[in-house]
Amino acid sequence: MKIRNRLNPSNPCFSFEFFPPKTDAGTANLLQTLEDLAPLEPGFVSVTYGAGGSTRDRTVDLVTRIKRDTGIEAMAHLACLGHTREELRELLRRLEAAKIDNVLVLRGDVPQGASADTLANTDFRHATDLVRFIREEDFDFSLGGACYPEGHVETRSRDEDLLHLKAKVDAGLDFVITQLFFDNAFYFDFVERARRVGINVPIVPGIMPITNHEQIQRFTRLCGATIPMRLALQLEQLKDQPEALVQLGVAHATVQCMELLSRGVPGIHFYTLNKSPATRMIVSALRART
Ligand code: FAD
Repeated sequence: MKIRNRLNPSNPCFSFEFFPPKTDAGTANLLQTLEDLAPLEPGFVSVTYGAGGSTRDRTVDLVTRIKRDTGIEAMAHLACLGHTREELRELLRRLEAAKIDNVLVLRGDVPQGASADTLANTDFRHATDLVRFIREEDFDFSLGGACYPEGHVETRSRDEDLLHLKAKVDAGLDFVITQLFFDNAFYFDFVERARRVGINVPIVPGIMPITNHEQIQRFTRLCGATIPMRLALQLEQLKDQPEALVQLGVAHATVQCMELLSRGVPGIHFYTLNKSPATRMIVSALRART
């Protein structure tokens, strides 16, 4: 199933993102998470990719296994950083052979501690180059890409970032998924600006339920997402009460999702970090309301 056909504001789909575990224990945990989340009938799930190829086989294997064994539509992320054109062609052929219909096309971030060789081996500098390549090679994938309501961390201006996104979409994307955000105003403003410059594909909001104080500080530092002042103060007050902090994170994300749905988003993508409880609570609450 092509994800582009599943994104519909009159029947929005929930999707869940996972990363490929490094250990057997991590894999067992992820399989349990999948089992816990399957009853929520996700429109699709996605599996991240370590730029430079650090998860090359694990991403392909996991996405193949999920689709084959659970029947849930599974999308592979693919990052061009650290890969030659030939390596990417080979990976795309493997995905095609595994009957994967959807790819999230990314540049990727250089993994911490990666050597300079990672970049030396790179044929494509931007995700747009990989989108163009996939379209030119006539692969029949539905293609998604990443976008940034608050602007990408490396960009000089949000307007410039938006024009780069426009070029990426024009190269052949069917939909985009946003970086996590905690204030819906960023999303609504971004969608408005995107439509104004002629970006007409579905823009799926990406939501990460906050479940750990330190972790969310680290993530937001890396990706540049803003935690609104009031939420930041509440999180600070609860940083030594893990259960209360999870409840706050779930409540905040649920309210965010309710507003997004009421304003007609085509779907909501959850960054699960391979854990089920928070996402399950949020989606169950959203389903109960409809
Ligand atoms: P690009 O679209 O190439 O943009 C990167 C930067 O380059 C931006 O600042 C953009 O404005 C600029 N730019 C684009 N085109 C040009 C141009 N022609 N000239 C000059 N500047 C330009 N990372 C992973 O490693 N693995 C994953 O699985 C993964 N999954 C993700 C899923 C989602 C939904 C999101 C939002 C992000 C994900 N990321 C992942 C993170 C992503 O790889 C990083 O944010 C990365 O820094 C940028 O990737 P991109 O595909 O957006 O890059």
